[in-house]
Amino acid sequence: MPLTEFSLIDRFFAAQAARRGDVAVGIGDDAAVLDVPAGQQLVVAADTLVAGVHYPADAAAEDIGHKALAVNLSDLAAMGARPAWATLALTLPDADATWLEGFARGFFALAERSGVSLVGGDTTRGPHAVITVQILGFVPQGAALLRTGARPGERIYVSGNLGDAALALQLLAGAITAPADARMWIEARLHRPEPRLALGERLRGLASAAIDVSDGLLADLGHILDGSAVGATLWVDRLPRSAAFLSTVPDLQSPAWYELPLAGGDDYELCFTAAPAHAPALAALADELGIALTPIGEIEAEPGLRCRRDDGRGYQPARRGYEHFGG
Ligand SMILES: [Mg+2]
Repeated sequence: MPLTEFSLIDRFFAAQAARRGDVAVGIGDDAAVLDVPAGQQLVVAADTLVAGVHYPADAAAEDIGHKALAVNLSDLAAMGARPAWATLALTLPDADATWLEGFARGFFALAERSGVSLVGGDTTRGPHAVITVQILGFVPQGAALLRTGARPGERIYVSGNLGDAALALQLLAGAITAPADARMWIEARLHRPEPRLALGERLRGLASAAIDVSDGLLADLGHILDGSAVGATLWVDRLPRSAAFLSTVPDLQSPAWYELPLAGGDDYELCFTAAPAHAPALAALADELGIALTPIGEIEAEPGLRCRRDDGRGYQPARRGYEHFGG
């Protein structure tokens, strides 16, 4: 039966919102009242997904619910923060109960797994679906990972693999084909990104700067370089690619080989910088968490981003995710 009253949506979400002990007042009053632990700083981010722009209008509701929260959690991971609370603002053309149920399933499954309580929100009627999630979390005073801390001589790392989500878009568009199991795995990387929350927290004290890779490595690393007023060399043959990526794009001559990991976007991995002295601690952390942490370049004093092949030749990316390329 379709829900016609938008107030029903509020109740639908309120009923499922688990309550952390630090939520003094949650959904149901004019605003939430939240206890911030002593010695911690509040870290806040928000992200909006627009139907037909940030996800296909016919994407599975459960995947949309997951992703709407995941992209926000990824921003907190990049700050080294631990998430605590979320708010949700939903604009929908109609109140479709089946869609809402799926959306809530995806959203709350990830929220629960991440220790996040939904503490407020709003629902409105509008011409397109627009989903805004705000996430709030903590870091110990002064411990947040910023974009401004990279220094010459440090190494650039990236977690996990790059290029899978962009490859999924190519598969969905029919531009590339893949075996069924590889295709399923690759599409899950697009629809179900896994925010690197445990890694982000553990990088406090190890990483000098960090960002999550949402717009593509070139663009996001570019933000660190700009923020830190440094440059870098990036070794494009060392970019980590998943087994499914390798089996789908076997040809090094294919434009996808370099371009998807460099500029594809939607990876939600962490890109960070660290002093060479931290290399053993990072290797141990990678083992402990079961997440690859791959050194992919070096921070340099000379401004600009220089992409190089392992044989030393320069590589000029086709897509300008980042506009400040050097020699
Ligand atoms: Mg980000």
